[in-house]
Amino acid sequence: MRTIPIPCLSDNYAYLIVDEETGQAGIVDPSEAEPVERVVQQEGVKLTAILNTHHHWDHIGGNKGLLAKHPGLSVYGHTSDSGRIDGFTDGLDMGGGLTLGSLKFDVLHNPGHTMGAITFVVNGCAFTGDTLFAAGCGRVFEGTMEMMYKSLNEVLGGLPDDTKLYFGHEYTENNLRFAEHVEPDNADVQQRLAEVRKVRAAGKFTTPSTLAKERKTNPFLRCEAAGVKAKGGGGSPAQVFGAIRGMKDRFRGTPSRRLRCGVRAPSPGAPLLSSGSPPSRQRSDP
Ligand code: FE
Ligand code: ZN
Repeated sequence: MRTIPIPCLSDNYAYLIVDEETGQAGIVDPSEAEPVERVVQQEGVKLTAILNTHHHWDHIGGNKGLLAKHPGLSVYGHTSDSGRIDGFTDGLDMGGGLTLGSLKFDVLHNPGHTMGAITFVVNGCAFTGDTLFAAGCGRVFEGTMEMMYKSLNEVLGGLPDDTKLYFGHEYTENNLRFAEHVEPDNADVQQRLAEVRKVRAAGKFTTPSTLAKERKTNPFLRCEAAGVKAKGGGGSPAQVFGAIRGMKDRFRGTPSRRLRCGVRAPSPGAPLLSSGSPPSRQRSDP
């Protein structure tokens, strides 16, 4: 199995998963069709499936274009997203799975960012969409803080330490700035931030991460660590999670980052979801 990250839009990742035994390939979260199609052609693989982690436009935007070029593609998503994923063919739920050539995928249901968010797990790799990012997590749009806490800490948290995590957005540097804000004394965070700054300055990707790295540096998987707990005002781990997720919603990205994404920063005290645009058009996290 080979996994090829394909940068899309301003900071999304689609992932081409190639089964080397059969030459079949699946694409996770094609934000747009063209960059994906280019890699499919370069690699000379047969695209047979689209794997959508959730229904947001920046994860399914390429479905229609790819279907036009590759009629008969299987399009997988959570059962509850059948009406909001273009070309949807196959509904999945917790404990379900799919095959791609010789590869067998397991599916984990992760309600929180959206109610139908899922993670695809294959050969020690997990494709987490906007549920778990490197050093961060997606905004809680459709579920509750409690749901998102469980999705991250109990469902994804149940995977082995060496699981490779392929996440939906390149938000790592800003996430680590927030992690440093939450835990200023966490040496692992400081070290990772320095490494990630070098990686990004060299124009490289920070994907994939591992669950082991996340357990040391991702504040949303560290709600029981003393520093995170104190910053979040105490209470149950899920309450701490809710408090720091709320802090992250209000945490400012660097000005250059906001300009690059063409996203206006909210004014202080502005509602998290402006009434003019539906959640599906909101940024996934920052
Ligand atoms: Fe997203
Ligand atoms: Zn999303």
